[in-house]
Amino acid sequence: MVQLETIRQLARQRGLYLAGVARTSDLAAAPDLPFYNAWIEQGYHGGLAYLAGERAFMRADLERLLPGARSVICLALNYNTPPPYSTNLPDTTRAWISRYAWGDDYHEVLRQKLGRFLAALRRCLGIPFEARIAVDTSPILERALARLAGIGWVGKNTCLINQKLGSWLFLGEVLTTLELELDRPAPDRCGTCARCIEACPTGALLQPRALDSCRCISFWTIEARGPIPEAMRPGMGRHVFGCDICQDVCPWNRKAPADAPEEFRPRPGLFNPTLEQLARITEDQFREMFRHSPIRRIRYRAFMRNVCTAMGNSGGPKFVPELERLASHPDPLIREHAQWALKQLRVKD
Ligand code: SF4
Ligand code: SF4
Repeated sequence: MVQLETIRQLARQRGLYLAGVARTSDLAAAPDLPFYNAWIEQGYHGGLAYLAGERAFMRADLERLLPGARSVICLALNYNTPPPYSTNLPDTTRAWISRYAWGDDYHEVLRQKLGRFLAALRRCLGIPFEARIAVDTSPILERALARLAGIGWVGKNTCLINQKLGSWLFLGEVLTTLELELDRPAPDRCGTCARCIEACPTGALLQPRALDSCRCISFWTIEARGPIPEAMRPGMGRHVFGCDICQDVCPWNRKAPADAPEEFRPRPGLFNPTLEQLARITEDQFREMFRHSPIRRIRYRAFMRNVCTAMGNSGGPKFVPELERLASHPDPLIREHAQWALKQLRVKD
């Protein structure tokens, strides 16, 4: 039986802050799966096909991802960085980009670290076994597995929270055919706190751990590719990529160490940038600026859609010239959001 401490040591040596082990068979009996299925049935996933359908079933059946899978090694990487939280910087003329997107795309960074960890595990054990790495790309209930593996609990804001590191964590998994020493599931430490639910500006946290994606700023600024419903736009404030509010207010993040690796430190111009600065970015500059960044995934048109919406919410007449220019943009998505934003600013004049 491979000891948990061996796994943890190998993980720490590869820059992975937390490691725990869950048994694949425990997932089927965990309450997380029926909760997830009910969430999908209620349509709270915002119609995202990759979260529903057959893949939802697969989330419990890790055997389909790795025949003979017995253990899942859950690993976490801290991305908390020193700059202040969004809730301490209320200037509506400056954009907010989610903390996780200030640096490099975590999929690439984490996959590389998991690859090195797995190679080290093979060298250390010296026995043949099958394994598969997953970083947000396979249909896995990763927060449920991380909870079972003792990494943390799923907070009322739906994030995985670790008692020492808080919730600024990227999660990854190594499925293996190995029999490994297990950890105990982490207890829920939210208690009577409901700060995240109260702080959500759009009421997306309907009840503890039940997020209605269709009301969540992160969903509309990152996942949605088309027009943002007009009713949602005012509540989005100055968010142009994701939203950190329900993590910023969490008391477990108050003392979270801000020692993320260099790759996740803010690139120049991405921490609380001015909206003018973003409004002037051309498509070529966007591609250059967001190379190897998660922001690149939403493409230029959705990013500019978000920037226009934020300018409309800013109350700042100084954005009118930029918006007038964007209101005749060749892309109808950008054009329509710029026209909407102009209307908002003119109403407030
Ligand atoms: Fe609400 Fe923002 Fe959290 Fe979404 S990310 S639930 S909008 S606070
Ligand atoms: Fe839990 Fe409070 Fe943090 Fe929300 S803010 S996740 S209720 S501890």
